[in-house]
Amino acid sequence: MSSEGQFKPKMLGIICNWCCYGGADLCGVSRFQYPTYIRLIRVMCSGRVDLKHILLAFANGVDGMFVGGCHINDCHYNPEGNYDAMSMVNLCKKLLENIGINPKRLRLEWVSAGEGIRFANIMNEFAREIEELGPLGKSEGLETAELNARIEKIAKLVPYIKLEKMKKLALHDINEDYTKLYTSEEIDALVREAPSYWIDPDKCQACTTCALRCPADAIISAKNQVHVIDQDKCIRCGTCLTACPERFGAVTRIVGEPVPPPLPEEKRAIVRKGKEGAGKSSPVAG
Ligand code: SF4
Ligand code: SF4
Repeated sequence: MSSEGQFKPKMLGIICNWCCYGGADLCGVSRFQYPTYIRLIRVMCSGRVDLKHILLAFANGVDGMFVGGCHINDCHYNPEGNYDAMSMVNLCKKLLENIGINPKRLRLEWVSAGEGIRFANIMNEFAREIEELGPLGKSEGLETAELNARIEKIAKLVPYIKLEKMKKLALHDINEDYTKLYTSEEIDALVREAPSYWIDPDKCQACTTCALRCPADAIISAKNQVHVIDQDKCIRCGTCLTACPERFGAVTRIVGEPVPPPLPEEKRAIVRKGKEGAGKSSPVAG
């Protein structure tokens, strides 16, 4: 435990109601000691913990993050949520590595309700590791602003990453080595090749098909107005690309290049020529 003047980490644990919380409770009533700076949040299942929860905790300055669930095949739910937690945490470790954060700052463990001493031992060991690493960013050589920018960037990709890795995230296989489920190269490529989608204002005919199909309500849609993708809301699912009628072909997939700025609102109105004009139209200029 930290003595006075020593670095006192901020640490957070998200633990399942049925096993790990029981272990933490038993640890308490048995008077086993662990650092008081570790704060715990109880959830019904470790499978409920999301990539976004972990990244949000780090974005809020947590130095170490713990996820605790029931031992494999002891989960109280069907299908077992602890497999989901195992895949998600290992994916998250690779994402942390990708943005330059030491993945040791995230730890997953199984603790049963009868393992109060195990809970205390894990907490003490993890706390020592985080104390040795120092504040988030220090061992990584990252200034706070750069650290936060990196976390924010990766957090925005979470829906896309979950879509791309849906099968692995749902894998329930006792014979699988989950620590090897994701490779650094795979995750680097996933992040590097994350696409953006953009609507070409010269081609959009305001047919609204994309806006109706978008699952994230990310397309700014109005009658007779060029449609625009809100890049902050877009989850990069690509639905608009396939939904836009072939004869318009207004949606473009962009990788590795900046997305053109959105057309200003006052320039989005589409002036349609008469029906006899073969339906051609264009946004109002300046
Ligand atoms: S890719 Fe297109 S459909 Fe998917 S969220 Fe983004 S704007 Fe919506
Ligand atoms: S589906 Fe294509 S043409 Fe229709 S509003 Fe969307 S981008 Fe424009």
